[in-house]
Amino acid sequence: MQFTDSHIHLQDYKTKDAQQNIFCLQQLDFIKVAAVSAEFTSWDKVAEYAENYPDFVVPAFGLHPWYISEAPENWLFVLEEKLQKFSLAAIGECGLDFLKSKEDKEKQEEVFTAQIELSKKYNRPLNIHLLKAEEKASALMPQMPVKFVLHSFSGSINFLRRALDFGAYISISAAVLRRKESEKIIRYIPSERLLLESDGPYLSDYNAIPELAQSVAAIRGEDVGEMVWRVNNNFMEFYGVK
Ligand SMILES: [Zn+2]
Repeated sequence: MQFTDSHIHLQDYKTKDAQQNIFCLQQLDFIKVAAVSAEFTSWDKVAEYAENYPDFVVPAFGLHPWYISEAPENWLFVLEEKLQKFSLAAIGECGLDFLKSKEDKEKQEEVFTAQIELSKKYNRPLNIHLLKAEEKASALMPQMPVKFVLHSFSGSINFLRRALDFGAYISISAAVLRRKESEKIIRYIPSERLLLESDGPYLSDYNAIPELAQSVAAIRGEDVGEMVWRVNNNFMEFYGVK
């Protein structure tokens, strides 16, 4: 069975370098991964992976709410340059975190909406992190670009409904399975909007994705092979790759 990973921080693995990880991923039959970045200082690494593994890595450049204060003033300009250089690059991860970020809410919203606007200007998919920010995120839904994904979805069923109405893709990680409402959430996601991710090396490792796929398919009452085939198609559709 072939797999995709919609959200992995390849540059943050301490024990293996990107080349070793990509070798392991390919051994496990992964066909593509989205290499996301949360910090300004990760962008050059992600760019390097995109150059070295163009058929395997989809780069995503973003500024996460935890790392806003560390970014230089011209970060948005540099982000735009990256999008111009990499025609298939996505934006992310970015978003709102009203639980763990030390940045105030207004600043987070300003940085997030700047990335939403850039994703619309360049017609690029947006990889979004949300934590305890449903009200604000609900209000921002009408501004979302055509393609956006809520990574490691941890919201309520009501928020899920609203996001789906605006075209959201929903990415499931092993962390989602541990939540009380997870079965209801997983069953509610339409097949054509479902993605799977490791969020490695943080929430889980990519070698957990085959098992995650089994669990998600069992909850949805679907054949795992068919579900994963569809998830891979969704990945290609979402990131605009083949
Ligand atoms: Zn992440």
